[in-house]
Amino acid sequence: MEKFIIKKFSTSVNTSTDGSTNLPLSSSSTINDKTVKRRKYKDNYLNFGFTFIGDDNNQIPQCIVCGVTLSNESMVPNKLKRHLEQNHSHISKKSSDYFTRLLSSQKKIQRSWKNV
Ligand SMILES: [Zn+2]
Repeated sequence: MEKFIIKKFSTSVNTSTDGSTNLPLSSSSTINDKTVKRRKYKDNYLNFGFTFIGDDNNQIPQCIVCGVTLSNESMVPNKLKRHLEQNHSHISKKSSDYFTRLLSSQKKIQRSWKNV
């Protein structure tokens, strides 16, 4: 005598109502396919006469002297230095103090422009 045991797919969902708060927080990682390497402004870039504009995710170097903006990829000491030496060779040997003062005076001008 043979017995055929028919397995029924039991789809009984155990709805446990024990109030457990096991939220899958670990799986909330954002996938960044486009990992564009954004260069960040460093304080010592001021020595090359550069400040930056834009937000944290997209900083763009801006020359304090002539106000020209370079691309984010140009946010490297070599390129900033080259701009300073090629365009503002007369102040390329100035100390960071000079550029700090220049920057602060530029900001004052910008502020007065906004008031107009
Ligand atoms: Zn410049």
